[in-house]
Amino acid sequence: MTASPLKTGSTIGILGGGQLGRMLALAAADLGFDARIFTPEDDSPASRVAAGATVAPYSDLDAVTRFASECDVVTYEFENVPAATAEAAGAHAPLRPGPKALAIAQDRLAEKTFANGLGIETVAFADVVSPADLEAAIKTLGASAILKTRREGYDGKGQVRITPEMLKGPGWAEKAFAAVGSAPSILEAFAPFVHEVSIIAARGEDGATAFYPLTENRHEGGVLRESRAPAAVSPATAKRGQEIARAMLGALDYVGVIGIELFELPDGRLLLNEFAPRVHNSGHWTPDACVCGQFEMHIRAVAGWPLGNPTQLAPAVMTNLFGEDVLAAPELAKEPGARVHVYGKRDLVPGRKTGHVTRVG
Ligand code: AMP
Repeated sequence: MTASPLKTGSTIGILGGGQLGRMLALAAADLGFDARIFTPEDDSPASRVAAGATVAPYSDLDAVTRFASECDVVTYEFENVPAATAEAAGAHAPLRPGPKALAIAQDRLAEKTFANGLGIETVAFADVVSPADLEAAIKTLGASAILKTRREGYDGKGQVRITPEMLKGPGWAEKAFAAVGSAPSILEAFAPFVHEVSIIAARGEDGATAFYPLTENRHEGGVLRESRAPAAVSPATAKRGQEIARAMLGALDYVGVIGIELFELPDGRLLLNEFAPRVHNSGHWTPDACVCGQFEMHIRAVAGWPLGNPTQLAPAVMTNLFGEDVLAAPELAKEPGARVHVYGKRDLVPGRKTGHVTRVG
């Protein structure tokens, strides 16, 4: 059993070498920990700021075992960690957040069923494993809907928008199902939301919780562009956001930071869209505008330390930088009140996140 709280100088293992792993590794270093990264990618953004890295595929369970044996705790920066990898890591070091959160977050059907079981509303949905299921589901959910693969979709990938016009074409159900790779899917009713909001929250090993203010998010093509905090929502909606997060954290016996994406309806009701069992892009403003940001908060939680203070000190707007946008970093850095974050990606691929800027105050 690992000593809790972890002593400074302990090693925190992070599965995943992207920008979230990088910012977690920096926060770990700031508290005196050594971060070790496990990633299939050579020279990853996270490895370059960490104390050490293992480069191997996630399916290499011997490598995962050796890695976890060298760590005092293991966490992850992406939710599609294969179950066998999580299990191998968890056999040699505490895995935080635990396997339950990971399993539920990996499956949209399990996720929505879990939320509904806690009294958290979602859009209406149906299980779809064939074009015939899709046709039947459209009859109950209505013609405005989204077909999504149950697993491995992110940033709008693995999704097809169904419109009333589409249904007029012959073989529409076969085409739509083929467009998601004929994978087990769910059909979701289209949410008539006024805002997309999220709540970043945390739970410590001792069960203590912390909540950041609700954040309003603007997506384009299914990808987050901008987050504003605090979101312009009523006190009742803000309170409901916290209740949703509290219920989920407790039911998952969660340790770490969680990112919960919600749709706000015209009457202020919140529907759960999905959750990520990790730090979240819509929380990137928190290190710049709060007493304790989401990365430090997560490291504190997984290390068994007391949670930090999530109080927001100034309003903030976070804008993602994609591809070569990040080359403007020196210009952006001239702005008073702007904090620029560059992920150190070697290839500036168009459409891929390469940095962000937070405008504070
Ligand atoms: P997701 O990958 O599920 O987060 O979906 C990406 C984006 O698509 C969301 O942030 C929304 O903008 C939009 N979207 C997803 N599901 C729905 C839905 N059921 N109703 C309306 N918009 C949706």
